Amino acid sequence: MSEYYDTLGVSRDASPEEIKKAFRTLARQTHPDANPDDPTAEARFRAVAEAYEVLSDPDKRAAYDRGEHFAGADLFTNFAGLDEILQQFFGGSFGFGFRTNAGPQRGPDVAVATEVTLEEAAFGISRELHFKAPHRCAACSGSGAAPGTDPETCPTCGGRGQMQVSRTTFLGSMMTVTECSTCRGRGSVVRDPCPECRGSGRVSAEQTLTIEIPAGVDDGTRLRLAGRGGVGELGAPPGDLYLQVRVAPDPRFERVGDDLHHTLRVGLAEAALGTASTVPTIDGDGFELEVPAGTQSGTFFRIPRKGVPRLRRRGRGDLIVEIALDVPSDLSAEAETALRSYAEARGESPSPPRRRRRRPR
Ligand SMILES: [Zn+2]
Ligand SMILES: [Zn+2]
Repeated sequence: MSEYYDTLGVSRDASPEEIKKAFRTLARQTHPDANPDDPTAEARFRAVAEAYEVLSDPDKRAAYDRGEHFAGADLFTNFAGLDEILQQFFGGSFGFGFRTNAGPQRGPDVAVATEVTLEEAAFGISRELHFKAPHRCAACSGSGAAPGTDPETCPTCGGRGQMQVSRTTFLGSMMTVTECSTCRGRGSVVRDPCPECRGSGRVSAEQTLTIEIPAGVDDGTRLRLAGRGGVGELGAPPGDLYLQVRVAPDPRFERVGDDLHHTLRVGLAEAALGTASTVPTIDGDGFELEVPAGTQSGTFFRIPRKGVPRLRRRGRGDLIVEIALDVPSDLSAEAETALRSYAEARGESPSPPRRRRRRPR
């Protein structure tokens, strides 16, 4: 970052009047309108204006002297902010605002929502979207001119879209560039507007767009497709398309980031003696999981790289299998007898059997 005092060519103990005087002189020398052939003038001018912005404000200057720094973006968010300073200083606009003038209207942003399955979210899918948005008028091919006619070169600006205006300011007579008000910067005018679009070059209509949903999207992911929204007016840039993705719940998996969680229910004997079980995977092939003898309920097994692929990155999450002990609540008489023998062998004290009503013979 340049040193503000050096930029203005003043000493660190310069008075406010000296700073103001230095800025006037440098602003006159470096103003882009005064240096139309020098592409670096704008950057130099902004540096001068930034230095002045800080050093002319007692609080900012004190902070700067203490070693605090200011980012240019904090000072001027756009040229309009700079223009405001110059207006205060010299009076009159310096034409920095012309870029923000209302020219032909940019196309609108469009928001669309779609629902995908967990597999589709994991591996990506091509999806056809239907939405209503302005598109190019077919009758006039977007020119805005009635069929059989053409837009004409703007008589005011001769097709350049800009006007150079001579203005008398503190800095003397200066040429300022502004947008042509007749054609609003387009350089052409429509004499006979197209009846289909009333001269705007676009009509609102149902649109179909096929887009690729990338692998790894999550519920709530918002994808921005730059320039795929509504078309702009008379050649102005199009808007953006925002696609909100909903991922339908999947009974087999709970998604946590890029990991998938699956609960595997095992019986008491399986947990105690060990078992092999096929765990579902998002890939559809299943995973043969060895549950060792003596596995406790709540034990986790992590199966690497069987989760969801990471969105726009390499790698995948894991599949995490949690063991849940399936306690039977509907024992047959045979199973109950076996379980009571087991309890006796283990020294457990289950509640005594409930009396079963004896069926009359
Ligand atoms: Zn039209
Ligand atoms: Zn014009």
